[in-house]
Amino acid sequence: MRVGEALAGTGLAAREARLLLARAGGWSEASLLAHPERDLPRDIEALFAQWVARRRAGEPVAYLLGEREFYGLELDVTPAVLIPRPDTEVLVEQALARIPVDTEVRVLDLGTGSGAIALAVKCHRPRARVVAVDASGEALAVARGNARRLGLEIDFRLGSWCEPLRGERFDVLLSNPPYVAERDPHLGQGDLRFEPRAALLGGVDGLDAIRAIVAQARSCMFRGAWLLLEHGFDQAAAARALFDDAGFGSVESWTDLAGNPRVTGARYHRDAQPLTTAGGEH
Ligand code: GLN
Repeated sequence: MRVGEALAGTGLAAREARLLLARAGGWSEASLLAHPERDLPRDIEALFAQWVARRRAGEPVAYLLGEREFYGLELDVTPAVLIPRPDTEVLVEQALARIPVDTEVRVLDLGTGSGAIALAVKCHRPRARVVAVDASGEALAVARGNARRLGLEIDFRLGSWCEPLRGERFDVLLSNPPYVAERDPHLGQGDLRFEPRAALLGGVDGLDAIRAIVAQARSCMFRGAWLLLEHGFDQAAAARALFDDAGFGSVESWTDLAGNPRVTGARYHRDAQPLTTAGGEH
């Protein structure tokens, strides 16, 4: 079979078919377009046919290829981790804006998944000391593999939110937690159908994880530290209320590339009430 014929009959969007065939054959998409007459070797034709069938059944392209680009980094992804999305880039931007290049700032990524956020921060702020936590050992294996391949040093911990931190404190705390409501119809559509439920579901209103993180965060923040959380497009007001209730001051939200309020954050002010459970002035 020739390239042109293979691309014509897939039932997929042209762009997606081209991407899959290019990856199956190890060619660039430009060279595919330039040479529709090229003969497909049998093994490549077979792999492409398999990918097309799986894609038509809904499997995300990122899982078929086993990778996704995020913030300029090529990351390995498996069905054990959420697929990194452009929505999350605003979280990284807001984090980088608060991390000086020349200081050894301590950064925490809660629910790191593929490691996308932690790795993007470490790549752009090599002096930062980055700790990344996940409750899934399988996810941490993916994240560790990414860190190794990219040559970026991250201190990975297995556990639930702040639990594995044993009293350590940080300057910038970040998370893209699960925030989809249990009955959200989007769970039955698109890529979400194939992604790990533990990385998506945030309880009845989607806010369970955000509630837990906001409640725990102060015990692992230095005074003056920042907590920045991603949330659903319609959760900014609820997230801000949770920050307010937890005693954070000057809570703000920022919009993603699509114009949705996507990240809410605040600073643990120097004049905040000391926590009874966590001693130590910083
Ligand atoms: N942004 C994802 C979506 O709704 C959800 C990711 C998450 O729960 N952290 O498509």
